[in-house]
Amino acid sequence: MKTIGLIGGMSYESTADYYKIINQLTNKHYGGHTSAKIVLFSVDFGEIERHQSEGKWDQSALVLIDAAKKLESIGADMIALCTNTMHIVADDIQENIYVPFVHIADVTARKIRSKNITKVGLLATRYTMEMDFYVERLKGFGLDVVVPNQKERKVINEVIFNELTHGIISEDSKKAFISIASGLADKGCEGIILGCTEIGMLIKNEDVNISLFDTTQIHCEVLVQQAVR
Ligand code: GLU
Repeated sequence: MKTIGLIGGMSYESTADYYKIINQLTNKHYGGHTSAKIVLFSVDFGEIERHQSEGKWDQSALVLIDAAKKLESIGADMIALCTNTMHIVADDIQENIYVPFVHIADVTARKIRSKNITKVGLLATRYTMEMDFYVERLKGFGLDVVVPNQKERKVINEVIFNELTHGIISEDSKKAFISIASGLADKGCEGIILGCTEIGMLIKNEDVNISLFDTTQIHCEVLVQQAVR
């Protein structure tokens, strides 16, 4: 079994899900008491979030490159970043390590294409929805990506940073996300990407009439597939 290197803490709520899902899938594969080999570098999200809001992506890149190198030096066979947003510096990380970097948007796009879906909505932080790095990456896989309108993007971003990253689940926020998702379905989307690793805590497939692609779940599935090979 290969060792999975996780750069987490962004937020610790979703990193806890990564830890649990990866172990559950590994145990399902092997049975018995088998669990995953994981090395985790959990960063200070306060520092990362400050850099995000000040647009200091280079500063965050240094922190995440350092984490990736440390994980590699203690035996990680692959590296994953447990946040969609910070994939803005994914290329910087990959350039500084030798082991594969498992990109969350790539694995999500492949999963969507495998279902013969091309038009998808994207729910994520304002950085992920509004900057090019993520949407362009998805488009590279032939996906047509629709982002919510400005007012909806503001709601989604506030729920992520004021509630979900603190582990707060609100019924009102859940209703708001369901309504935004159904609005995207009305615009012809065949699926919705939960493009923030905390959104799966709030809405699930059974809450909506459209396929949800939870990046946390998909990322974990691919990491385990690569680790157990
Ligand atoms: N975990 C979130 C994401 O997937 C948001 C936290 C962050 O800004 O890194 O984008």
